[in-house]
Amino acid sequence: MPELVFFSGTMDCGKSTLALQIEHNRSSRGLKGMILTRDDRAGEGKLSSRLGLVTDAVEVADELDVYAYVVDQLSQGGRVDYVIADEAQFLAPAQIDQLARVVDDLGLDVYAFGITTDFRSKLFPGSQRLVELADRVEVLQVEALCWCGARATHNARTVGGRMVVEGAQVVVGDVDRSDDEVGYEVLCRRHHRKQLTSATAHAAALSPEVLPVASA
Ligand SMILES: [Zn+2]
Repeated sequence: MPELVFFSGTMDCGKSTLALQIEHNRSSRGLKGMILTRDDRAGEGKLSSRLGLVTDAVEVADELDVYAYVVDQLSQGGRVDYVIADEAQFLAPAQIDQLARVVDDLGLDVYAFGITTDFRSKLFPGSQRLVELADRVEVLQVEALCWCGARATHNARTVGGRMVVEGAQVVVGDVDRSDDEVGYEVLCRRHHRKQLTSATAHAAALSPEVLPVASA
């Protein structure tokens, strides 16, 4: 039976690497996939992983009917054996419904990869729809770690290393940014709740207020 599978996790948990691995495994068996993505860090029409692998992909625009697009490809004689949708959290809920239709009406497997929750720990609309519709949800357990060493389960948005909790749901940025740019850091829930990033935790540790200073 064809399936809609949602591989979910935090940023930095290896989703795109797994997407590329699935693509490699299937194409090496002679199957042809359609790869969809949106706002990948490598730029439009690319699916890239943090480990440096990259492949061409179809950039999904706001108004694209994904089901109609696959049907178009097939009716023009193109071959599509399965569909991979990376950065699926950025797809509209209606586009997730269209992916489910690709499974049900076209009989193709669809593998969707996405971040579950945003920097406020709220579900992305696309991820919410995937949780609602998927035949299977796989939570990726590649160990992304909080600075404290605990398993990172939450995404924090940072500006200059400090966690921010207000702002638009989607702001393109990446982990490993330090200056005043918008960046992201994965944290355990405890430190996400306390808004303690690695930078602020380091600053707090050096603060004289918390050092045992003997009074003169
Ligand atoms: Zn932590």
